Amino acid sequence: MDYISTRHSSLSLRFDEAILQGLSNEGGLLIPRSKPSIDVNEWVELSDFLTFTETLLGLYLKDSMLESHLSDICRDAFSFDIPLDKIEGATFLLSLYHGPTLSFKDVGARFLSACLSKLKKPITIMVATSGDTGSAVASAFSGLPQVQVVILYPKGKISKRQEAQIICWENNIKPVSVDGNFDDCQALLKAALQDDGLNARTQLSTANSINIGRLIPQMTYFAYWSTRFYHTHAIKPSIIIPSGNLGHMTACYWAKQMGFPIGDLVIATNANQTLTRYARTGDFHPTQTEHTLANAMDVSAPSNFERLHHDLKTQQAFNEAFTVLSVSDDEIKSTIKSYYSRYKRMICPHTATGCFARDQLNNAKIYFVAETAHPAKFDSVIEPILGVAPPIPKRLSAMLNKMKPAECISPSLNELIDII
Ligand SMILES: *Cc1c(COP(=O)(O)O)cnc(C)c1O
Repeated sequence: MDYISTRHSSLSLRFDEAILQGLSNEGGLLIPRSKPSIDVNEWVELSDFLTFTETLLGLYLKDSMLESHLSDICRDAFSFDIPLDKIEGATFLLSLYHGPTLSFKDVGARFLSACLSKLKKPITIMVATSGDTGSAVASAFSGLPQVQVVILYPKGKISKRQEAQIICWENNIKPVSVDGNFDDCQALLKAALQDDGLNARTQLSTANSINIGRLIPQMTYFAYWSTRFYHTHAIKPSIIIPSGNLGHMTACYWAKQMGFPIGDLVIATNANQTLTRYARTGDFHPTQTEHTLANAMDVSAPSNFERLHHDLKTQQAFNEAFTVLSVSDDEIKSTIKSYYSRYKRMICPHTATGCFARDQLNNAKIYFVAETAHPAKFDSVIEPILGVAPPIPKRLSAMLNKMKPAECISPSLNELIDII
């Protein structure tokens, strides 16, 4: 399997080269040259999740230096449960927060760190985080020899507990709070990745979903659970994903393209309207980012749109592939409340956008909603709504009393270069 750039199809990289590089030199995103087609009848036999995952990811790591390490990598990365929970009749939550930092970002971050630790190359990993990538990456990369990690997060725009999970680390993790929003952090990251001086000093890459190594492992659970469901019920489930930077949905879309039995794809966003506007007008035009209760999705310029657009090309094709629904803060609040009273289920504000979207759609059709984070990360949102605090998992409380102040900069590449 080789990887090309969205802006340059003559580039050809192996998977290991693609994850070390992160972004292609002209600023394009790396994508597989083609996606293998599968016959679902062969995949229903793979009922064990790890076996399924290894087989699927093997297609994407083929001919790379990591191919022979794949079993080890999968065992390290997928070391926690990813259950599908039935909520009622036709609604399921695909519960993705059972990793060490309580969001789905643990999957991609742990897979990437397992890959890089096999490659044994000195590298600096820089990430821009809207809240959950930073902690997942810090946890996955903490203590990894030869790896330095720089985490850029928007000052005052992530939850206290998300911040605590970013600033509780020793050694090779450097948190940097940026006086701006997530899009500023992401722009800074892209500028750094393309800065010749910095790249001459160190091998620089990213663990954002810009990095293909974060994205590919996110295909696995959508492919696995839709295949299990199809095998038992002969129905293709539709999937709703609370989305910001669109990495998660891009992975799911690729799984569907390969032939896994996935029905409709629904992008749930918060009040940031870039995608709903694109779906309506065909004009992709990021504006000022709005700060919402679902802060990990506070993105106005979703990076992975470029990957989807490379395939889909037109507004019409995009609208045939996806439904986009934008969900307001009030709707998030009412959904958190109603899922608690109807189903005794506490959901995080991001998951609530997906659940709200689900309630707008055909009642009889099967929907999986991706449950992207644990509610305890967002106690400051949830407790005032429900009057009850979400129980704190041990792995979170252990991080809460280890905080140290982060360095603060304005969104300027020079200031960033000065401190790393
Ligand atoms: C990152 C994140 C999202 C959005 O995922 P994208 O891949 O950026 O679209 C949704 N929910 C939570 C909790 C997240 O941390």
